[in-house]
Amino acid sequence: MPEPLPVAFEPFSEEHQAFRRTVRDFCEKELAPHAREWDEKGEFPRELFRRFGDMGFLGIRHDPAWGGSGLDYWYVVAYAEELVRSRNAGVGTGMLVQGEMATPIIGDLGTDEQKREFLAPALRGEKVAALAISEPDAGSDVAAIRTTARADGDDLVVNGSKMWISNGTRADFVTLAVRTGEEGYGGISLVTFPTDAKGFSVGKKLEKVGNLSSDTAVLYFDDCRIPRRYLLGEENQGFFHILTGFQGERLVAAVTAVAASQLMLEDTMRYGQARKAFGRPVASFQVWRHRLAELLSRVEAARWLTYRAADLFNRKQVAVKEISMAKLVACDLAQDVAYDCMQLHGGMGYVTETDVARAWRDVRLLPIAGGTSEIMKEIISKAVGL
Ligand SMILES: Cc1cc2nc3c(=O)[nH]c(=O)nc-3n(C[C@H](O)[C@H](O)[C@H](O)COP(=O)(O)OP(=O)(O)OC[C@H]3O[C@@H](n4cnc5c(N)ncnc54)[C@H](O)[C@@H]3O)c2cc1C
Repeated sequence: MPEPLPVAFEPFSEEHQAFRRTVRDFCEKELAPHAREWDEKGEFPRELFRRFGDMGFLGIRHDPAWGGSGLDYWYVVAYAEELVRSRNAGVGTGMLVQGEMATPIIGDLGTDEQKREFLAPALRGEKVAALAISEPDAGSDVAAIRTTARADGDDLVVNGSKMWISNGTRADFVTLAVRTGEEGYGGISLVTFPTDAKGFSVGKKLEKVGNLSSDTAVLYFDDCRIPRRYLLGEENQGFFHILTGFQGERLVAAVTAVAASQLMLEDTMRYGQARKAFGRPVASFQVWRHRLAELLSRVEAARWLTYRAADLFNRKQVAVKEISMAKLVACDLAQDVAYDCMQLHGGMGYVTETDVARAWRDVRLLPIAGGTSEIMKEIISKAVGL
């Protein structure tokens, strides 16, 4: 008798799918109609944080004790997949930074006081959160950060600057990486930093290629005093905490890349069937049918690689290699998808009122932020012993 086939792996239950429909509905009806307007303005309304908080989207996997929903990671996957249907990558970035990047570290490492002061209001969308690790001279090389936090009595005195910080112009607090000890990775700590601290300033909002409605800023710290009890986790262990935090950030980037690719392809198939040239739909030319078939297959492969990483992450298994692979494959693939989808749209693909044109700009960020594709290859090659 042959071995019975394993039960098919279906990550989404009825409850997950019901939640997915709620997110999709909200994104399509309440966000997408404003997508262009917010891009042109270079900002989405701050009230959206409150709205997302009220809907429970900012605390999906967070502890209910602090206002989260305590759900599993597949709800986050469904949420991030549907968020691309807002048609506004800046909103996606802002909200994912808030719920999935700047705050999980506080949930994992923070004291009750930090959770009360920073985490709970962030999950409600009352306080805006940012995660500040990168600096003008240190992006990929996190161990080279130079912003210092010097102990002075019961305080820490912070000096330095941070670069490319999402939610940076309107953050009420920052989950901040600082140097508290020796040079290199062994001297880094994380702190919760309230932006009303004296000496803090926002340098400028950066003009970007895409993600236009997300505010990305340079932050300055000039003799800013914060209480020492705002340290997150153990002093000088920040590098390891950051690497742990990166896993969720990179996984959600992979999920976003797959979902954005899928949406671009759906739009393109629709356009290519309606648009005629030489008496037939442009998508009916074999060159395009084959190109779309190829891309749909690659997206499906990237999706299941990403789901494999999400499954490990959900079960709290070590998934550094799988998450890095998923981020690399999905974010690089989104570039090919965006290029071809724009090409099939012809002239309309170059006009910014077309969704695919804005998606082409927006997905370019994916292989850069949160660890570049080159860094993903470094991690993967080390993980397999190369
Ligand atoms: C829109 C946007 C939003 C962002 N949001 C945030 C945020 O909220 N918080 C935050 O902390 N940061 C944020 N970042 C920063 C982002 O994470 C960094 O830009 C990214 O990690 C790359 O760092 P870098 O720009 O310093 O590039 P560099 O490290 O200077 O790298 C430049 C090039 O060299 C390559 N390279 C570097 N090291 C190696 C190596 N060892 N082997 C091979 N190639 C290598 C890189 O892959 C890249 O191609 C954001 C960036 C952008 C653009």
